[in-house]
Amino acid sequence: MPLSKEIINRTLRTPLGEQAYKLVETLTDAGFEAWWVGGCVRDMLLGNIPEDIDVATSAKPKDILKIFQKTDDTAAQFGAVLVSLHGHVFEVTTFREDDAVSDGRHPESVRFGTREQDAKRRDFTVNCLYWHPLSRELFDPYAGEQDLNERLVRFIGSAGERIGQDALRLLRAIRLRALIDGQYHPDTFAALHRKSNRIEILSGTRRFRELEKMLLGPHPPRAYEDLWETDVIEYLIPELHACKGVAQPSAPHEEGDVWDHIMHVIAAFTHDHRADVRWAALLHDIGKPATFSIEDDRIHFNEHASVGGKLTKELLDRLQCPAKRRDKIAWLVRHHMMMSTFMEVDNERKAHWYYHPWFTELLQLFWLDIAGTNPSDFTLYEKIIADYNEFLDSHPLPPKPLLDGSDVMELLGMPPGERVGEILQLLYDAQVRKEVTTKSEAREFLRTRMGT
Ligand code: ATP
Ligand code: MG
Repeated sequence: MPLSKEIINRTLRTPLGEQAYKLVETLTDAGFEAWWVGGCVRDMLLGNIPEDIDVATSAKPKDILKIFQKTDDTAAQFGAVLVSLHGHVFEVTTFREDDAVSDGRHPESVRFGTREQDAKRRDFTVNCLYWHPLSRELFDPYAGEQDLNERLVRFIGSAGERIGQDALRLLRAIRLRALIDGQYHPDTFAALHRKSNRIEILSGTRRFRELEKMLLGPHPPRAYEDLWETDVIEYLIPELHACKGVAQPSAPHEEGDVWDHIMHVIAAFTHDHRADVRWAALLHDIGKPATFSIEDDRIHFNEHASVGGKLTKELLDRLQCPAKRRDKIAWLVRHHMMMSTFMEVDNERKAHWYYHPWFTELLQLFWLDIAGTNPSDFTLYEKIIADYNEFLDSHPLPPKPLLDGSDVMELLGMPPGERVGEILQLLYDAQVRKEVTTKSEAREFLRTRMGT
């Protein structure tokens, strides 16, 4: 699978490719060596146009900062500078030596080196590909192209050592295999398994980011099944690990146990499902292991949604998920079972749900839960959708306020305080009564009624 001329030309014609070409050209003109590197070259070899292009160079961060106007040097101490060109942001990293002395979390110090040394510290053979857009030369010191033909994920050097240096590589290996729909080199797989508990050393933020990329990537169940098979999940999300082997009532769950059900749910993602819904789908049933009971000859999981909501919050805190997102994901998990009683809710309560800003995502979660159940029965879901649409037709959404607090303060020259809120409420009531319908009418309303 050599780099095809067609992919090269198509990539160089994209606005991103054009700017990435110029980036290398500028560095070359300044007397430095520069290459496109990593995922973008891998993508092109697989016949895809890259969505993101990283550059490796002999230029030091201080040189890069001098050459380009729009830069971000937050990570310069690690040898990486972000360069913006016409709205495209590129990560430009200086050739680095390997991090043999690292503590497994992050490289404490960075030593700059040659391109050959830089190649040696990269994680996988298929990520160690450098391509020069001017000369069109491919630098492939670890036969990455050959491994890519077999879709093989293989560590550069000793797999165990590489994981020891940076435990994030456990997750990167698993995500990469799902990304390229590939397989593991036996040494790589054995090391993932052997070193799975190293994951504990990683910060929550780094774990969260990789897990989210797995959820957003092309084969989420592949990645999560691998987390299971390598035992990583046991150390990473024990709440999910606990779902394996937990029986479900055989009707209607022909798909298997709770874990199998979750895998079917995350296999049903479509482009419409954003990150928060994906997290909620992954975690929606983690309350089941603790609530398993058998009553009247049938398996029950009483209150598993509220137990799951609580566990979700704790788990996402551990992963240092931002509080706003944590609360939303936990809310979705907590309410994922309400669909069954939804049609019995009275109209006033329904309005509360239908106007809720997260309701459409809750609907998506309902849908995914059914899609991951075998057989899937969408009857109730469709009833709710019909009722929701009917409700929206007969109850248009409340209007958005025409002005906000800072408009009021500026217009009336008043300081912040309760009075601002009262005035906003008066204005909003007039808006609902349709006495004011535009921003300028709203300003006029304030001027005349509020005596300015
Ligand atoms: P994608 O961006 O599609 O997820 P990528 O391979 O470009 O994939 P990045 O995280 O952008 O991944 O990293 C760019 C390159 O940097 C990788 O291809 C790899 O060569 C190297 N790299 C990134 N993280 C590590 C790591 N933890 N250890 C060693 N090399 C790494
Ligand atoms: Mg990348």
